[in-house]
Amino acid sequence: MIRIKVDIIGAGIGGLTAGALLTKQGYQVTIFEKESYLGGRSLSFNGSDISVEDYKKLLARFRMNVAFSEPDINTIFEKNMLDGYKLDLGYHAIGGAGSNINSVFAELDDNVDFVRSKVGQIKKDGFDFPFLSCIDKVKVFPKIFRLLFAGEKTMKRLDSVSMTETVKQYGPGKMKEILEVFSRSITTVNNLDKISTGEVFRAQKNLLSGSKPVGYPVGGMHSVTKKFADYITSNGGKIHLNTTVDKILIKDGKAIGVVVGDKKYSSDFVVSNVLVQNLFSLADEKYFPKEYVKYIKSLNGTGSLCAYYSLKKIDSGLVGKTFHFIEHDVGVDGGDVVGMIDFMTSSPNSGLSPSGSFLVQSYIICTPGETRDKKTLKTLRYLLDKNLKVLIPGYKQDLNWTIYPTVWHLDGVAKTIDKDKPDITSPVENLYLVGDCVKAPGIGFNCALNSASILADMLKQK
Ligand SMILES: Cc1cc2nc3c(=O)[nH]c(=O)nc-3n(C[C@H](O)[C@H](O)[C@H](O)COP(=O)(O)OP(=O)(O)OC[C@H]3O[C@@H](n4cnc5c(N)ncnc54)[C@H](O)[C@@H]3O)c2cc1C
Repeated sequence: MIRIKVDIIGAGIGGLTAGALLTKQGYQVTIFEKESYLGGRSLSFNGSDISVEDYKKLLARFRMNVAFSEPDINTIFEKNMLDGYKLDLGYHAIGGAGSNINSVFAELDDNVDFVRSKVGQIKKDGFDFPFLSCIDKVKVFPKIFRLLFAGEKTMKRLDSVSMTETVKQYGPGKMKEILEVFSRSITTVNNLDKISTGEVFRAQKNLLSGSKPVGYPVGGMHSVTKKFADYITSNGGKIHLNTTVDKILIKDGKAIGVVVGDKKYSSDFVVSNVLVQNLFSLADEKYFPKEYVKYIKSLNGTGSLCAYYSLKKIDSGLVGKTFHFIEHDVGVDGGDVVGMIDFMTSSPNSGLSPSGSFLVQSYIICTPGETRDKKTLKTLRYLLDKNLKVLIPGYKQDLNWTIYPTVWHLDGVAKTIDKDKPDITSPVENLYLVGDCVKAPGIGFNCALNSASILADMLKQK
């Protein structure tokens, strides 16, 4: 039987999920990945396997850098302080606690183990865990449920309503706090004027699909990407690492393959998993409508400052828990800023740090522009440390090291009130887009995964 060929550019979550699901459907899948790692922005690496130079270069290729560290980053590597740790490029927690991932793996007769957590809130002098007490739930849930279970017609109307207006409508109290914190953490945008109410509640529904709101894969993001890759290669698909696609071949308005160096790979479909803003470095823009090109080029990502803290000890009451915080009037776009401090990665069964050390991950939202401004970064670093100090007042005495990576493409495209993500289908026939840059439920990781599931459904062979 002749199998239909699909070339996939990129082994990020979008590319790998599409690759696995299309392999399952009988397609002949070939994935090309320019890095030596699987997973794209969701890659994990062993601290002992990388040099400081390669670490910095890796971050730079993903539009990241190390803003601060303690001790300095060269010393951390010279003294082999990362030996025994498994790190991502920066903070990861998966909304819906892996329910989206495991619904895909169920189709592949497999499953990924997760550490899962409810979410608490850090206050000035302590914390609430979980965020909502039983009394809060009684007061607030009827209002939230009305919004969460509104039909698509209401959601569409709410797409053009900013979160600033929605917050005003619900007045002060716990409901205000929920709307202000969750709308920011769901979208990774601080400015409520730019956040669409419809989008927030659609994404919130997606989070509720899990048993807990957030999760982290046991063994790191690599546990997910390796399983996808193993499924693809053990079922006849191919994954070429260290292989950059130079060009998407287009003939008579149809994608017909890719070019790698001086080699052509012909295919029936081409799936691009690259940042959508980079599409025209691979595909000649003359094949796309002018308006589409202009719109794609106008899209921006979201940013953040992350921090990894390695500690010698942690109060057992914090291990496995995740917390939000909000800081008001700090001078960032939108005024207030939201962040998270996460102890899921310090659970001994997360498998991420050597015994006797505890990894804490955290992040604070900012715009891509703010990640390039040292003064703002200093403020954001102060706020991360300040909130960790509320949870662990003496944490500095138990600190092994800290690394603060910045990222200006956390989500590939910021889904804001005035900018929608592009569709999975492109104007070029047989060329599809997957990843967190395109229209699919959820943000970040879930958006990338869900876009690939939608594509696999679209390409289901009769
Ligand atoms: C520091 C950081 C923290 C994050 N935190 C979270 C979080 O807490 N929760 C969450 O849900 N999301 C988070 N995200 C976002 C999440 O990682 C991404 O949404 C997701 O990994 C994107 O997957 P993707 O498949 O869309 O794209 P990518 O991961 O960008 O994959 C694209 C792949 O294409 C490859 N590629 C590009 N050009 C070429 C070419 N010419 N030829 C071959 N290969 C090519 C790239 O190397 C890459 O591997 C975070 C991201 C970062 C960077």
